[in-house]
Amino acid sequence: MKKYISQQNLNTLLDNLIAEGRRVVAPRMSAGIPLYEPLTSSTEMVTGLLPRRSAKEAFFPVCEELMSYEKEGQQVKLTDVDPARFPETVLVGVRPCDAVAIPVLDAVFSWDYKDEFFLERRRKTTIIGLACTTADDACFCTAVGLSPTETRGSDLFLTPLVGGGYAFESCSAKGEQLITNHKELFTGQTKAKTLPLAAPQTEKIDVKKVKGWLDEHFEDPLWDGVAVRCVGCGACAFVCPACHCFDIVDEGTEKAGKRRKSWDACGFWKFTHHASGHNPRDLQPKRYRNRIMHKFKYYNDKFGQTLCTGCGRCVRICPVGIDIKAIIDTIMNSEC
Ligand code: SF4
Ligand code: SF4
Repeated sequence: MKKYISQQNLNTLLDNLIAEGRRVVAPRMSAGIPLYEPLTSSTEMVTGLLPRRSAKEAFFPVCEELMSYEKEGQQVKLTDVDPARFPETVLVGVRPCDAVAIPVLDAVFSWDYKDEFFLERRRKTTIIGLACTTADDACFCTAVGLSPTETRGSDLFLTPLVGGGYAFESCSAKGEQLITNHKELFTGQTKAKTLPLAAPQTEKIDVKKVKGWLDEHFEDPLWDGVAVRCVGCGACAFVCPACHCFDIVDEGTEKAGKRRKSWDACGFWKFTHHASGHNPRDLQPKRYRNRIMHKFKYYNDKFGQTLCTGCGRCVRICPVGIDIKAIIDTIMNSEC
């Protein structure tokens, strides 16, 4: 027997959470595009589509204010944004390739500098993952050692069942707490079968071999070949659940303004542009090389894991058809 929650009970849970004042974020249609966004009702949630952007923005928004300043005479008044004001959140319907990226981001946002804007949202968020039942040609989670039922990163995990509803499993103390707080909705048991799961590309990436090649090939003709088409739009980084670069900029006048943190991308020419005018990554192949190096070497050197969950978003979004999996396969199949 599986532990079971009906679709109706799941909807009731979400509506109750919204009524209690929680921020409930889930995939919903936004101007015709599926995105993770706050719900006003459980009926807005869509479960059959992979959101265009990843779930990272529930913790790391596209742009957020850090502080504001105001000048009165010779006095400057600074007002910090207090992360304590962030609301308790339930993030629901999260794909395994998104959920698993969140602990990956924890490592970087709590490493030397503790980013309270990210970490406070993490503390206040319960993540309900959802097993994948559809995959397209771009999906390759299984190639990086994950799967459509990977539970890492989720606090509670749902698997869709034939006939409707979900098998559920608790994966953390936060998941247990959510069940305890709403125990009347989590009482079901069923023998129903799981819906057929997604079957992404299965050819495994030998991460060790790829990293070994990258260790020795900072300079290589491959980079010119793969990046000659790259237009540096940064879309691949913006849709990625694991990319996390940002810029901090003061915007305003000499009298008043705001300090904001915004997503950035190593594919942008300005990303490494020095005030002197020098740019160590002056050509696109150097910038694209950094993308691959960061994902399959530098992050691994520092944190012992890969910065790619195989969600395939960058493959789908790239306007010139650059396919990171095909590049990694080329590296993997290189002789030396
Ligand atoms: S690099 Fe591409 S496939 Fe890998 S996690 Fe990022 S968007 Fe997904
Ligand atoms: S989406 Fe494609 S063209 Fe745009 S920066 Fe990424 S690899 Fe380059």
